[in-house]
Amino acid sequence: MAKPSSLRTMSHSIHSSIKDIQKDMYFGTEVLNRVSFLREDNEFISKSIFHPSTRFIFFNRQQPLVYRQYGTKLATLTNGNNQINIDELTPGVHDKLGYMGNTQFLSGGLYDNIPNWRDILSTWNEDNKHHNPDLRSGEKPVFLFMGLLDESIGLDINTLKGEEAEDSDISKLSNEDGEKYLDHQGRYQGIAYYAVDVTKNHELSKQLVEFVNNSINEKDRTTLTPEENGVYYTHSRKHFLSFEHKEASLYSHGAMFFNWLKTNKFCPGCGHPTIPIHAGGKLVCTNEEKTKPRHSSTASSASSTGSPDKLEPRFACPVRSATVSNVLFPRTDMAIISIITNRDRSKILLSLGRRHAATKMYSCTAGFMEPSETVEVATKREIWEETGVTCDEVQIVMTQPWPFPSNLMIGCMGIVDFNDKNEVIHLGHDNELLDARWFDVLFVRKLVYPDEIEEEEKDSFNPEGILIPMSESIAFSLIKLCVDEAKKKHKL
Ligand SMILES: [Zn+2]
Repeated sequence: MAKPSSLRTMSHSIHSSIKDIQKDMYFGTEVLNRVSFLREDNEFISKSIFHPSTRFIFFNRQQPLVYRQYGTKLATLTNGNNQINIDELTPGVHDKLGYMGNTQFLSGGLYDNIPNWRDILSTWNEDNKHHNPDLRSGEKPVFLFMGLLDESIGLDINTLKGEEAEDSDISKLSNEDGEKYLDHQGRYQGIAYYAVDVTKNHELSKQLVEFVNNSINEKDRTTLTPEENGVYYTHSRKHFLSFEHKEASLYSHGAMFFNWLKTNKFCPGCGHPTIPIHAGGKLVCTNEEKTKPRHSSTASSASSTGSPDKLEPRFACPVRSATVSNVLFPRTDMAIISIITNRDRSKILLSLGRRHAATKMYSCTAGFMEPSETVEVATKREIWEETGVTCDEVQIVMTQPWPFPSNLMIGCMGIVDFNDKNEVIHLGHDNELLDARWFDVLFVRKLVYPDEIEEEEKDSFNPEGILIPMSESIAFSLIKLCVDEAKKKHKL
């Protein structure tokens, strides 16, 4: 997993303000308007699931379908043929997403290329609408409505309407049929995204691979196999970390929801199977059993609360009868991760975990939050437990979703006032680390900005071959933030 930062481009992280780092956070870039309230709107869901412009990404055992030939690309497929590509216009000039005249890389659609695709959608749509207890039994794929790519995310809807398109490409795409984007009651306009878990449907899973592979072969005029074209459901973390930022967020979004759905198949209140309703956003228990009205055994107490005969029967399952009947909310496990430094940022404490011993990757301190603990207290505790160092101030600076399987990393800066006691490293409390050291900020800076290393010190500045985490991680962003702050403070 560790990769020398010097091998990575850092063009996407040249900015140093927290706002910019946060906006571009890997796995956490804002890609879709989740419009979570529309998940339970059957009219909207029915309309969006069948719309030609709707995009789908696919998972098999939480492994996303990708094609590797053109970098790692998430296979994003549409219902209809010849759907348009939403391209990013030059940032700063237009700064909006819009249509520049390209069709999607995979131009064919699911309707024409996957047998039974329409039936699969119809079955799911009915199951979802009626909360069918069999919604996820047998070979049925599980669908998750992810959200809308719309104007709140920077989409320039006018370019899709063709009003600003001067060439005639856009009119070829059935301008009048409104195929290019979804319009729901004139209020919500954009392109809907769904994630689909095809784990249990081997046939569909295979057909999708063949479809993507055939599309690539057609485009390239080749006859390669899926393996040769790199079309598969990948389990490689290396691939998960080499997506383009927007695709990384889509992957993370789907993987985290499907992990939640997969690990919560039975109701914690009564043990009956659960089903995902509201287009995958909510789990409910399928236990229909009702309790009898309690008038016989509680006659004396009932007299004071009105007529017992009018009491509605309640679900026998304690979860189902609760006011808020979601069996379990989508799970996010919070972990804190901290960069430890001193007031003037001249020193940075980095530590070497046991599993990174071989790569010598020194990183930030991290650990899970405990119940009834503030972020600040958890950070202070983790720092002390792992390194023995006492920090005086904790600042929460940035966050990152981390889909392995469902974490939210809360990035903090722990500031230590040196007094010959606070800063003393002691690894013996929980014994998780192999090493922890206060590094000079100038040394760490060279790891963050390898371009700044002078030619004559290239071979000598880092004799131990120490590495820092890859640039996609929040650990890297925290280290970089600290190094950048040092520069501002000391005019390095
Ligand atoms: Zn239950």
